[in-house]
Amino acid sequence: MDQSHIRNFCIIAHIDHGKSTLADRLLEMTSTIPKREMQQQVLDRMDLERERGITIKAKAVRMGSHTPNGDEYELNLVDTPGHVDFTYEVSRSLAAVEGAILVVDATQGIQAQTIANVYLALDNHLTVIPVINKIDMPAADPEQTAQELVDTLGFDRNSIIMVSARDGTNVEKVLQAVIERVPPPHGNPEASLRALIFDSKYDPYKGVIAFVRLVDGQVSTTQPLKLMSTGRTAEVLEIGVFTPDMLPVEQLRAGEIGYIATGLKNVTECQVGDTITLSASPASQSLPGYRPAKPMVFAGLYPVDTNDYLPLREALDKLKLNDASLLYEPESSAALGFGFRCGFLGLLHMDIVRERIEREYGLAMIITAPSVAFEVVRTDGTLKTVASPAQLPPPNEIAEIREPIMAITLLVPSRYLGSIMDLASEYSGEYKRMEYLNRAEDHQSSRVLLEYNVPLNAILADFYDQLKSRSQGYASLDYTFIGYRPARLVKLEILVNGQPVDALSSIVRSENAYQEGRALVQRLRQLIPRQLFEVAIQAAVGGRIIARETVAAMRKNVLAKCYGGDITRKRKLLEQQAEGKKRMKAVGRVEIPQEAFMAVLKRE
Ligand code: GDP
Ligand code: MG
Repeated sequence: MDQSHIRNFCIIAHIDHGKSTLADRLLEMTSTIPKREMQQQVLDRMDLERERGITIKAKAVRMGSHTPNGDEYELNLVDTPGHVDFTYEVSRSLAAVEGAILVVDATQGIQAQTIANVYLALDNHLTVIPVINKIDMPAADPEQTAQELVDTLGFDRNSIIMVSARDGTNVEKVLQAVIERVPPPHGNPEASLRALIFDSKYDPYKGVIAFVRLVDGQVSTTQPLKLMSTGRTAEVLEIGVFTPDMLPVEQLRAGEIGYIATGLKNVTECQVGDTITLSASPASQSLPGYRPAKPMVFAGLYPVDTNDYLPLREALDKLKLNDASLLYEPESSAALGFGFRCGFLGLLHMDIVRERIEREYGLAMIITAPSVAFEVVRTDGTLKTVASPAQLPPPNEIAEIREPIMAITLLVPSRYLGSIMDLASEYSGEYKRMEYLNRAEDHQSSRVLLEYNVPLNAILADFYDQLKSRSQGYASLDYTFIGYRPARLVKLEILVNGQPVDALSSIVRSENAYQEGRALVQRLRQLIPRQLFEVAIQAAVGGRIIARETVAAMRKNVLAKCYGGDITRKRKLLEQQAEGKKRMKAVGRVEIPQEAFMAVLKRE
């Protein structure tokens, strides 16, 4: 298709504002998916996505559309993941299109992700079409929402379209606006091939399938390819478009969106953001914005059953084929035995990986408390990245520790402003900016945009839970990584019966160490069940004990009932006792349940 008749766009929205529902309506309206095959959230294909109502993987779909005067258009919708963990993937999806439909729920107004997404779209020079959704709902206030879009994000009131994605009201106006307002792509079809990879997945038969936007040139199945960041070459096994099923085509040209099956064995060789060119006549410059996947959150993953070590490794190997941002390396811990230290993009990513391993591979695991990666400057001037408390050099070798800082955006009703600002400062937040979204007559119901810089570690702890509870669910949060900053941090160790338990140690702000150490041993005392003997739980910093609690010995034990030497009866009782302890791990002779490990980073 001629580029002037192509429109590439995506839909951006805060979660639950109606992105998937609007996409469903657009696919119906353009007859892309036959009515009988239509189901809700048709683009979210993974079970996990449908269950949780979130989009995890980007995908694309080609739609056809006719205008009233008979012109035919090719409309490519790229669906983006909807969570901050995947901000980089989202930014590459946005780089693959020229326009974005911004969906805002008329009952909720602008939320934190609305703002973050608009900034991302503007960074990528996209034309943004503001759409207010759910106007059918009695609680909808489309005029107020429109005013927020005008005042806070600077949209022209006349450019805003009011729709009900559920009922289909005005959805055709959205389609029309995509054709009229989104500029056509303007790559050079005669130049050397440059295709932007905005997602990829592994297929056992076709190798890695790159989801691409052709910026310049064209591609057919005959010429070998080259990946510009690594210099790696690949064959073209198949090219095609998404309907949304994969449909092979002969050729893709500048401006189009589709896929290239590369035969590569691992998505790490074909990363999101990289540029594909032809190996015989490569482009001289790659497309801007490439960045290798970088995990931000680390945790230890251990099989509950030590026999599951190899199956766990196989599961990780398989997941990694499809997930360049998942990192793992073998680790062993005195407490937990053999396992892996894994790196994730964020907590949601971690949760997804854990759930997939449990579901798809049937393996039970213990995950240690998540932690960030710190940068440690040693006294000899060298820099070390520390992804677990166990990797921290001894205190006398540390000149400086730096921690990752996130810029966060919060939207809160002003009646919660005080308690949310308290929360931010409790979590070492650095105040940046505040803006009232609307000045309601009754000051209490206006909403405020707040910006802070907050350590990622705070977000991994229970910042988000606290935010939700202190705002009764009315606050929304979005964040992006801005860099590493020096902080006064120490290693807080936990000893169980005198034995340090690596998996329970953490890196904390030195001024909080005493308080956190105390809170932690108190919590552990409640979480560690009574044993046949007394258990001492201690917190230590730099070898100095700062807190101690004791779990008293059990008064009775199950074996007490067995007098005489009936060994089979004893064994039976012990087996019964072992049940329900699947998620327990032994330190020395002490059984520690999974909750104890998860409790480490949480605060009261
Ligand atoms: P997403 O998270 O942005 O993809 O949001 P969804 O499309 O999954 O929508 C979230 C919820 O809002 C679902 O329960 C939808 O049925 C509902 N919803 C979406 N659009 C409308 C609408 O126009 N009117 C009403 N009443 N509900 C809607
Ligand atoms: Mg959705």
